[in-house]
Amino acid sequence: MTVEITRATIDRYNRPGPRYTSYPTVPHWQSDFTAEDYLAALREVATTTDPISVYVHLPFCAERCAYCGCNATATKRTEVVDHYLDRLERELELVTATLGTGRQVVQLHWGGGTPNFLNEAQSRRLMKLLHTAFTIDPAAEVALEVDPRIGSREQIFLFRELGFNRISFGVQDIAHDVQVAIGRIQPLSQTQTVVYAARDAGFTSINIDLVYGLPYQTPTSFATTLQAIIDLRPDRIACFSYAHLPQARPNQKRVDARQLPTGYEKFQLFRQAIDTLTAVGYDWIGMDHFALADDELAIAARERRLQRNFMGYTVLPAPHQIGFGMSAIGDLAGRYAQNDAHLGHYQRAIDAGRLPITRGMRLSDDDLMRRKAIMHLMCNLEVPFDLKLPPTGQRLDDVFPAEIERIAAYADDGLIEVEPHRLRVTERGRFFVRNLAMELDRYLQQATTRPLFSSTV
Ligand code: SF4
Repeated sequence: MTVEITRATIDRYNRPGPRYTSYPTVPHWQSDFTAEDYLAALREVATTTDPISVYVHLPFCAERCAYCGCNATATKRTEVVDHYLDRLERELELVTATLGTGRQVVQLHWGGGTPNFLNEAQSRRLMKLLHTAFTIDPAAEVALEVDPRIGSREQIFLFRELGFNRISFGVQDIAHDVQVAIGRIQPLSQTQTVVYAARDAGFTSINIDLVYGLPYQTPTSFATTLQAIIDLRPDRIACFSYAHLPQARPNQKRVDARQLPTGYEKFQLFRQAIDTLTAVGYDWIGMDHFALADDELAIAARERRLQRNFMGYTVLPAPHQIGFGMSAIGDLAGRYAQNDAHLGHYQRAIDAGRLPITRGMRLSDDDLMRRKAIMHLMCNLEVPFDLKLPPTGQRLDDVFPAEIERIAAYADDGLIEVEPHRLRVTERGRFFVRNLAMELDRYLQQATTRPLFSSTV
């Protein structure tokens, strides 16, 4: 990539912005959205034959990493997982009592936490529960997140046997001093073992997660990390920005903020990832994903079929996503819904026979239109004037002329190119696509998010 981006440009655009895995974003959902509202959404989905996507949140980890921003719980006690699975079983029953059993699932994802914290019996039990509740399409994307530190070759083969075809490994950085600073010691050999096993077991897609902006990361250390990951040749690499928010995430108080790269240094690390990965055959997808040019994510991006949901970029969107487990999020029948993010509260609600919804939102027509426009921009890096917006199919330029004008103004800084039928995000603009999407966000005045490349806010 030859495009120059100055420190002044970074400073100008480095302001708070959501990642837009949903719109409206979670902080704007309402706490008076109840289990009854969720049941109404489920009833609506039940009247259709639409396929669904299922997310299961498995919050347990062997220990809490210092940098972690996930909804995770450290435990050594395996029976805690059994009790949690009891609740998941009950939650599946509560949902399918309204939705009906046997619903076709085209996407299934186990996220965490650490899904591979489950032992063999627990993994088998959970998959059986899901097969009892749903019909998992033979062509479904069946994915899980794996922590290589507690993974083994046998476990990877078990997951393949259970029907998983996609696997994602958390790595973050391979440098020892960085790993010490983030409380996650993971020798490269552990990562190699599980990646080779996944390949031997026949996983069709292998992803590795990296994080930039961690303490002690330097261009030299990060080059070593990138090269080690390139040597493993995963189909996909996600390169996420580290957000240091110790007030909201007390575990991050263990991270020494003085050792974090500054905003511009952090930007340079991301830039380094882009330059390095694209030079060896990876396409830069959306904001922070990379995929080998023949991977379906890269193909979908080229063919402008990419979609975005809570799990990031995807090629197989289902019209409805149903979440299970503490803090899990659903997106169904024009509503968002989130389960209680507190383990005890989640379990007590289930024990009382209640769906553990704590917040959500019924999207208005305006929300649906803006969501379509924002997701299209995040995925396809353009604002087409004739984009048809749900629910009425109106053209984008008829509904949002003022927003188009505001986004077009970014052409002055080279972030946008104004073409006859669309605004196109330039190479420079890709770094600031969230800023552009924010121009379409009606709720922004109340936003409580963070600068793109800040290390400390
Ligand atoms: S980073 Fe991953 S493994 Fe570490 S505590 Fe968070 S969820 Fe668990």
